[in-house]
Amino acid sequence: MTATAIQKSHFPAPSNHFGPSYPDLRGCIDLHMHSTCSDGAYEPEFLVEWAAHLGLAAIALTDHDTTRGVRRAQARGREVGVEVIPAAEITVAFSGGTFHLLGFFVDVDNQAFNDQMAAQVRSRNERNRKIVQALCDHGMEVTHEELAKEAGEAVVGRPHIAHVMIRKGYVREFKEAFDLWLGDGKPCFFNKEDFSPKDAIQLVLKAGGVPVLAHPRWLNFRDMAKLEAYIVELKGYGLAGLEVIYSDHEDSFQNTLKDIAKRHGLLITGGSDFHGGGVVKPEVTLGHGPGGGFHVPGDLLGPLKAAAGV
Ligand code: AMP
Ligand code: FE
Ligand code: FE
Ligand code: ZN
Repeated sequence: MTATAIQKSHFPAPSNHFGPSYPDLRGCIDLHMHSTCSDGAYEPEFLVEWAAHLGLAAIALTDHDTTRGVRRAQARGREVGVEVIPAAEITVAFSGGTFHLLGFFVDVDNQAFNDQMAAQVRSRNERNRKIVQALCDHGMEVTHEELAKEAGEAVVGRPHIAHVMIRKGYVREFKEAFDLWLGDGKPCFFNKEDFSPKDAIQLVLKAGGVPVLAHPRWLNFRDMAKLEAYIVELKGYGLAGLEVIYSDHEDSFQNTLKDIAKRHGLLITGGSDFHGGGVVKPEVTLGHGPGGGFHVPGDLLGPLKAAAGV
């Protein structure tokens, strides 16, 4: 299939904030998105086709803790003329907030990397068993079969559990499942064993990848001097860049991050964190921030490639 052969009707219609058609994204890139291989709603191939339709020059598939969808996305990318950067978004242990590490250009055949990702999945499965038991103890029957069906090819995570809870009438909506039961510190919440920041960064480096701190906003630092000091600590472990352009980053925060990146010689990346426009991040769409707010310029890709040596 060529880019021109892609049927427009195939893609979700633009939402209100775009008017009747999507804005032209020719030459732009999107370095953060999820497919059905983690918690996204669309298959890797579909994301690539849509990226081609939007005119994006390159995308990175950044599924949570897996590179399983990368080869599929790359195969379609070759057909439709979109460069697909191999990547993953690794969950990292961090007490004050959410720490996700993007690993761009990781070698998807790296044995140590894949073994570690498999260990993460085992840890998740162990945690899922605890959650299911706790839900049962609170009178909510959710079976592993139901979760497997909900997740399809993806690794089961809390969003899948929330969806089954909604379907079975235990909660009304996604947020309620987290607010009452599954969210951090709630009655059916369990920690899972995640990588330390240093181990995650080293893992990406050893797999030939470029480690970039995803959505620094979610680390929840209020004091920008403390955020900077922490980023410097991460740079000491090998962190190479910051995800600056991101849905939850207002302009002033992006500027702060750009200054930090400049002062410490860190790369800048950006992405939508598109999950499919459903319950997870409904306000973003492929290539765009909330309300169609931002584009990621294609010229950020050169320095990232140089860092990866590709
Ligand atoms: P997991 O990887 O299984 O820990 O699930 C993490 C995902 O659950 C996140 O990416 C969000 O989609 C969702 N999530 C976590 N906490 C909340 C919350 N408080 N409210 C809504 N969704 C949440
Ligand atoms: Fe996610
Ligand atoms: Fe993330
Ligand atoms: Zn993400």
